[in-house]
Amino acid sequence: MDFELSENHQAIRDAAVEFARKRIQPQLADLKKKNQFPKKLLQEMADLGFFGCTFPEKYGGTETGFLSQALIAEEIARVLFEVSFAFNMQCMTCPFTILNWGNDQQRDRYVADTIACRKIGYFGLTEPNAASDAAAIQTSARKEGDSYILNGSKIWITYAPFSDYGIIFARTSEDRYQGLSCFIVPSDLPGVKIVEMRSKFLSGLSSPGEIYFDDCRLPAENLLGEEGQGFAILSSALNYGRLTVAARSLGIGQACLDEMLFYADNRMQFQQKIGRFQSVKALIAEATVELEASRMMVYRNGWLKDRGKTAFRESAYSKYFASEVTHRAAEAAMKIHGAYSFHDEYRIGDLYIAGAVVTVAEGSSFIQRGIIADDALSWKDAERYAAFDKRYPVDFSGFLGH
Ligand SMILES: Cc1cc2nc3c(=O)[nH]c(=O)nc-3n(C[C@H](O)[C@H](O)[C@H](O)COP(=O)(O)OP(=O)(O)OC[C@H]3O[C@@H](n4cnc5c(N)ncnc54)[C@H](O)[C@@H]3O)c2cc1C
Repeated sequence: MDFELSENHQAIRDAAVEFARKRIQPQLADLKKKNQFPKKLLQEMADLGFFGCTFPEKYGGTETGFLSQALIAEEIARVLFEVSFAFNMQCMTCPFTILNWGNDQQRDRYVADTIACRKIGYFGLTEPNAASDAAAIQTSARKEGDSYILNGSKIWITYAPFSDYGIIFARTSEDRYQGLSCFIVPSDLPGVKIVEMRSKFLSGLSSPGEIYFDDCRLPAENLLGEEGQGFAILSSALNYGRLTVAARSLGIGQACLDEMLFYADNRMQFQQKIGRFQSVKALIAEATVELEASRMMVYRNGWLKDRGKTAFRESAYSKYFASEVTHRAAEAAMKIHGAYSFHDEYRIGDLYIAGAVVTVAEGSSFIQRGIIADDALSWKDAERYAAFDKRYPVDFSGFLGH
């Protein structure tokens, strides 16, 4: 056992910390004020290889592995959660799924451009009536000659309003699981309409969208994998996506702790720092220890994946635990900041929402608990989809030194 980050991993984390401090921090207020999709910032991150850790050099990746990807996602989310959605859309759920399940033409067309942010992608699974129950998808893809005709809709699809394309899941037959297939859909295809979703709780930096397919004719060559493989593809994609959601949660949780520590050390009441009060200490101690435990779990998930394991189980553990710990840390930060939680000059309100979002997206905490408990009871093996998983062979050994 070795709990130290290697020099290589440390250097990757340092690069992310430096970028967050020198490039994101100074423009935070401006980005929040503009409240628009930050494509230029994403391109700068892409230029540094921030989205390419698990991709082969052939497609513009850095071959530095899953743990590296988690470290970068954590440090960027710590400074600006809203921009960290890109670690899923531009990296783990959209192009990584094409890398793993696509053919050479599809990889050549989409992978390098997406991790370089020349193309913006999305992961289109959720529908108005199919959310936690992904197999209930109603969007249909009817084969007609050399095309599929898409009808239906998606909702809550992050980056869809700014996208060049996305991957979607649609029904090609009535069978609940074998009837799902996956497609690559250009956003400017006739019959596709995308509407940005805005609310007081959703940031314009990472808006989701609703997508409508109205007799949309899609060339059959846009089928990803084989017809009927959709459920295997989405299970595989969510396993990798849950690693970066867990890492992003960790970053938000750490940001909550950073804010708590500063405030408890500076705010005076009853002629002393509020950090002197036992109740405030308890909140700080709990967040510190829970975040440390969560960090071990997230890093281990990446470490296992770097060694060729699918680690579905660890993705459920770490996504569940990291997001719940972060949600609690955000609540603690709110208690410690009192009225100032609601002041525009403080980050606490934003962090509280971010901490809640990560408990919902890519499989809610209740869904993760179900996976974890069924596995513990030996009713359903959490690794049962590992048999259907597909991973493009990327050799990380040069970076990991093993
Ligand atoms: C900001 C944001 C971004 C998102 N981005 C994307 C995206 O890019 N792509 C995408 O496809 N989706 C995206 N989503 C959708 C997200 O994945 C879904 O919201 C999530 O899967 C849960 O769906 P739901 O909120 O409609 O809840 P529902 O599935 O309707 O569930 C409602 C409640 O019931 C509980 N529940 C449901 N089934 C069970 C069960 N079997 N056991 C126990 N409890 C259960 C849930 O945990 C929840 O508490 C995004 C959501 C948000 C908020």
